[in-house]
Amino acid sequence: MLCQRTIDGPAHAIGIGVHSGRPVRMTLRPADADTGIEFQRLDKPGRPIRARAENVSDTTLATSLSEGGVQIATVEHLMSALWGLGIDNARVELSSEEVPIMDGSAQPFVEIIQGAGIRNLAVPRKFIRITREVSVSQGEAKATLSPYDGFRAGYTFVADHPVFNRYPKTIEVDFASTSYLDEVCGARSFGLMRELDQARAIRKCLGSSLDNAVGIDDDEIVNTEGLRYEDEFVKHKLLDAIGDLYLLGLPVIGAFDGYMSGHTLNNKLARALLRCPDAWVLQALPTTRRRQAYSLH
Ligand SMILES: [Zn+2]
Repeated sequence: MLCQRTIDGPAHAIGIGVHSGRPVRMTLRPADADTGIEFQRLDKPGRPIRARAENVSDTTLATSLSEGGVQIATVEHLMSALWGLGIDNARVELSSEEVPIMDGSAQPFVEIIQGAGIRNLAVPRKFIRITREVSVSQGEAKATLSPYDGFRAGYTFVADHPVFNRYPKTIEVDFASTSYLDEVCGARSFGLMRELDQARAIRKCLGSSLDNAVGIDDDEIVNTEGLRYEDEFVKHKLLDAIGDLYLLGLPVIGAFDGYMSGHTLNNKLARALLRCPDAWVLQALPTTRRRQAYSLH
């Protein structure tokens, strides 16, 4: 039987919020079995905020949670890293409202958690196994979960831009054969430089820079270091979707397909699934035969 996992000791990160632009200190701590992932604002003492799809309160350019009137912003990259490491339970303490953006990917979170170590808990790990297709759409955008024996994720984005046109816009990853840690977690956020002013006008991206995103101007990538992967753009969209889906509270056994879906539609999909109890079952895996396929590296 696969066991639930938590972090083995405290892990610290210091950075800035990409949207608030404010400095923030984060500490990840161990948590008991069946706690799930929960956030605690140290500047606003009170009950922890559970990392659950039903607590998502804002999906404008990032996924934010709110519970008991307290908000936690930009959780998706951290949630993606926690999924990738198979961490079921952790307490995330923050000195202010936003998870630090680090380098714009999930890799720094993976590294600090690996540095602190991972501990098995003597309680079986639970999964959500998809038993029938659930799909949501918004205009042209669409997101779907369907039955699959493992975890497969596909994503397609559409953007007619000279830079995007040079790189893959479609990806499909079967985590039975591809490692999230080796192949996905390093994909950084990206954005068009000409859209930065619009974002800042609505008090978003105030901390955004070439240290935490790939910047794109009218016909080239602005960062001198270039891309980490040929398909870094579409891979980051997949990384985001994985983090958004982990707000289901448990890892999925099934297939995700996103077509132009962003945080809003990803959350709509998670909520739709939770509203359809006939579309999934809770399951503990009987063997460790295909650990990697279920995010246990
Ligand atoms: Zn992202």
